[in-house]
Amino acid sequence: MQQRIAVLGSTGSIGRQTLDTVASYADRFKVSVLTAGSNLDLLSQQAAKFRPHCVVVAAPRSREAFESFRSEMDSLGIKAYSGDEAIADAMEDDDTDVVVTATVGYSGLIPTMRAIRAGKTIALANKETLVVAGEIVTREKERHGVDIIPVDSEHSAIYQCLDGEDREAVERLWITASGGPFRCTDAAVLAQMKASDALRHPNWSMGAKITVDSATMINKSFEIIEARWLFDIPGERIKAVVHPQSIVHSMVEYRDGALKAQLGVPDMHLPIRYALAGGKRLTLPGEERRLTVKDLSTLTFEEPDDSKFPGIKLGHYALKQGGNTACVINAANEIAVDAFLHDRIGFTDIVRVIEETLERADRVESPELEDYVASNEQARRIAAECL
Ligand code: NDP
Ligand code: MG
Repeated sequence: MQQRIAVLGSTGSIGRQTLDTVASYADRFKVSVLTAGSNLDLLSQQAAKFRPHCVVVAAPRSREAFESFRSEMDSLGIKAYSGDEAIADAMEDDDTDVVVTATVGYSGLIPTMRAIRAGKTIALANKETLVVAGEIVTREKERHGVDIIPVDSEHSAIYQCLDGEDREAVERLWITASGGPFRCTDAAVLAQMKASDALRHPNWSMGAKITVDSATMINKSFEIIEARWLFDIPGERIKAVVHPQSIVHSMVEYRDGALKAQLGVPDMHLPIRYALAGGKRLTLPGEERRLTVKDLSTLTFEEPDDSKFPGIKLGHYALKQGGNTACVINAANEIAVDAFLHDRIGFTDIVRVIEETLERADRVESPELEDYVASNEQARRIAAECL
């Protein structure tokens, strides 16, 4: 039977690559639901091609634009809705088996929680869900007996390296980082870097927000937090290592000294394919590039420079502090990155805004979902003042 896939954020980088994958394996997968932030043009093309039974857009640019989209969808027999609530409702769709969470930022949290509570398998790209509220998301996942399969390349690699292994035998997780576009940039000129510089990622083509997170290395902090919740390993046993070629996607070190790695070309189709197949291997659909000896001849590794990229320290800090710390960091980061992308603040201001927000935000020791919602709102307000 075909797996029925809902794509939360189908118009973005991961969403589009998810749909490529569905198209390449049409005998295995079909689309049930597509959602987008505001891009009605692309959503409508995707809907015409993949024929979901429902599409939802969070914030159409105008009522008129949405009404014309809705009548277009109507003629295809597709139901169209708008608003955040409608996106969350669509996650409970009876005709969906797997939800791919490919939306960006905090916007993933509530829909993902709803999908978990409805018993859907989660193919998780939206790492911010676990950054903001990892503790309660994993608790709900256990309660409802659902699987969360990582799409993030590092976590997919770790997931693959853990397959068939005894969890007790794990010593440490090694999360690789490309180092981003500023790895070789002189620390003294980092403050002058603009959004256009940060968006030139050396290895990966991704959405704007995660590309900036890679440049600050806050992405690696988020991935440390993501790994802590996905694999139930304390932060002290998760280590980041810079690997500029992005061929080794991550590694697991075992008690006996063995270090197991997963390698591949830097292409998100692989982890997406693996997650959609429920952690099984599908054959490459065509003549896609495979690794060659040449790729393997130049692999290098180095320690991250945390004085040049202080953002990389935030992950361990957040895990140590616990409570709503990571939620505050995430919210402040979203506001700061957005301001940076609009050239309103400088590159090194991003971490400054996060630190100032952390100082001023209320601490919540054992947050529940509503506390995260409130904390996210408060931290966004404070961060906006710190710009
Ligand atoms: P993009 O910015 O390319 O896409 C984001 C998607 O979410 C779009 O479909 C967008 O719609 C939608 N969206 C944005 N804001 C909202 C909102 N408020 N409500 C509902 N939908 C919204 O992001 P990426 O694909 O790069 O990243 C998605 C997630 O995957 C992130 O959490 C990222 O960290 C993670 N990830 C991404 C990787 C990559 O290679 N891109 C690699 C590993 C992880 P619209 O187009 O209409 O704006
Ligand atoms: Mg990653």
